[in-house]
Amino acid sequence: MEDRKILKSGEFLVSEIEAKDIFIPEEFNEEQRMIAQTCHDFLEAEVYPQMAELEKGNRELMRSILKKAGDLGLMGISVPEEFGGFGQSFVVQMLVAETTGAGYSFSVAYMAHCGIGTMPILYYGNKDQRERYVTKLATGELLGSYCLTEPGAGSDANSGKTNAKLSEDGKHYILNGQKMWITNAGFADTQIVFAKIDNDRVLSAFIVERNLPGVVVGPDEHKMGIKGSSTAQIYYNDVKVPVENLLGKRGEGFRIALSILHMGRIKLGANVIGAAKKAITDSVKYANERKQFGVLISTFGAIKHKLAEQVIRLFAIESAVYRVSRDIDDMIGKLKQDCGDTGRASIEAISHYAVEAAILKVVGSEMLDFVSDEAVQIYGGMGYSAEMDVERGYRDSRINRIFEGTNEINRLLVVDTAVKRAMKGDFDIFGKAEALFADLDKITDGEIPDEPYFAEKTRYIRNLKKVILICIHGAVKQFPKNLINDQEVLNNIADMMMDTYVSESLSLRICKMETLGKNIAVCKDILDVNIYDTADKVRKAACDAVFSFAEGEKVNSMIKAIEILTRVRGVNVKAARRRIADKLIGDNSYKF
Ligand SMILES: Cc1cc2nc3c(=O)[nH]c(=O)nc-3n(C[C@H](O)[C@H](O)[C@H](O)COP(=O)(O)OP(=O)(O)OC[C@H]3O[C@@H](n4cnc5c(N)ncnc54)[C@H](O)[C@@H]3O)c2cc1C
Repeated sequence: MEDRKILKSGEFLVSEIEAKDIFIPEEFNEEQRMIAQTCHDFLEAEVYPQMAELEKGNRELMRSILKKAGDLGLMGISVPEEFGGFGQSFVVQMLVAETTGAGYSFSVAYMAHCGIGTMPILYYGNKDQRERYVTKLATGELLGSYCLTEPGAGSDANSGKTNAKLSEDGKHYILNGQKMWITNAGFADTQIVFAKIDNDRVLSAFIVERNLPGVVVGPDEHKMGIKGSSTAQIYYNDVKVPVENLLGKRGEGFRIALSILHMGRIKLGANVIGAAKKAITDSVKYANERKQFGVLISTFGAIKHKLAEQVIRLFAIESAVYRVSRDIDDMIGKLKQDCGDTGRASIEAISHYAVEAAILKVVGSEMLDFVSDEAVQIYGGMGYSAEMDVERGYRDSRINRIFEGTNEINRLLVVDTAVKRAMKGDFDIFGKAEALFADLDKITDGEIPDEPYFAEKTRYIRNLKKVILICIHGAVKQFPKNLINDQEVLNNIADMMMDTYVSESLSLRICKMETLGKNIAVCKDILDVNIYDTADKVRKAACDAVFSFAEGEKVNSMIKAIEILTRVRGVNVKAARRRIADKLIGDNSYKF
């Protein structure tokens, strides 16, 4: 393993790494690119031509396309070879999630199968369960689903009423209850069902086969988007689930459910990149064809602004996605040395990066909503036509802010998890923050003359982190009554953390690209605009937070410090965005 510095989850708030310490997508090798190309070719050959038919809700067609993906080996990317898969690294799993993310509702069905439908058994199953199910899920012989949500239990997932009781002969759990919004419900052969045994306080998890008597799948929901994916309710009426199908230990289900959601969030962060690249390519192709006032619309500044902003937001979150992926790979490697089991090591590593998982989920889904919305706008009236891919992309994008934990829940998690980890001693937020607080009136922005380009960006990001520490410390220690109940303040802090993490990842990526000899001229424009915007957003969020939780004379010194620490050099954003757009327009496709 390379000798590189790895940060714990959330530690980025107080520590720095160097560009050499992160993985960037420009480092994918030929073999890994070929895997991505295979996924891309599959979408072109098997998915896009069937999209209209899939959107009519043809469950059989979706099932058959998933089976074809299985035949091609695309279901086994994340599964170790001993269970019939290809045992690819986490970064490659993310590359596959990215590429298939361009597949609209197919992507949702595919990810539900390969991720939340398969991985619980790989991660938590015993040898027998893995051999009985994972080997078949890895090839597509079986298709999977994950059943946590209930009519009364959504965000509050542990409040479900589905119940399991051990039969008198001790051979079965008798399952009763109802699940809703279950992806792949219409055709999945296996269901990971969460239920409480007897009057347990927490959930347990079960592997339930669809053909067991008493399992009843309802009709598909009529949805706003991802219309090709099957989403339905499932009812369990005295279903006899063999005791061997309890997944993990009794009462371990809630932990399994949450861990799997961390994984789902990270992979969603990759998924949306693929969808956004497709939307941007569609946008620029249209802008390069459509003429108004006698010229191509891609020559208009307002359109260039949109195209550039699509690229900036995508390129930035992509940097964070692959940074986290390599961190996870490295931690899997370390944990595997201790426990010897790839599955257990993987889920421990993924769960460890809970702060970053929530960041990727929120920023990624909001990036895709922005990109898809602007794609529709660039198409004008044609963007509103149901004939167009951008219209489908717009509708399909919206779900990403809702499932895998809503963005509201994930924003809370970003701050809550980081603060808890710091309190546990993983890293020191409060000592550093206290030192800042003690000298608030003496804070400077640390500017030095003739600062090199990347050193200046690093300083800006360091300053933004100080702002976050000031706010966390102020909210938790100085005015402790408010924070837990003040979700607005938590949101402010979450937004600052997310933007800063993404900007830092972007800066490190472009710095590393330079060391790899890449031409980074336009990438510097991306970074300049991104940091200029991030500093402004952090300033606003920090001021909102401080005015909300603080009182008295401390307010003035905190606001003054925030103004100083969010000061960045002015950027000619018009010229920078035009250069970014011009590259996209010249390439006539997303090729950054
Ligand atoms: C198309 C689709 C596919 C899905 N696939 C699956 C699947 O395969 N398996 C599965 O188990 N589930 C699935 N889901 C369910 C999904 O995960 C839930 O819809 C989601 O977790 C939100 O739960 P809810 O719908 O009950 O909303 P609620 O929890 O009722 O939330 C309503 C609103 O209140 C907010 N809110 C709730 N609690 C808080 C809080 N503490 N603080 C602040 N705001 C809060 C939410 O953010 C949201 O804005 C799917 C849903 C859809 C729509």
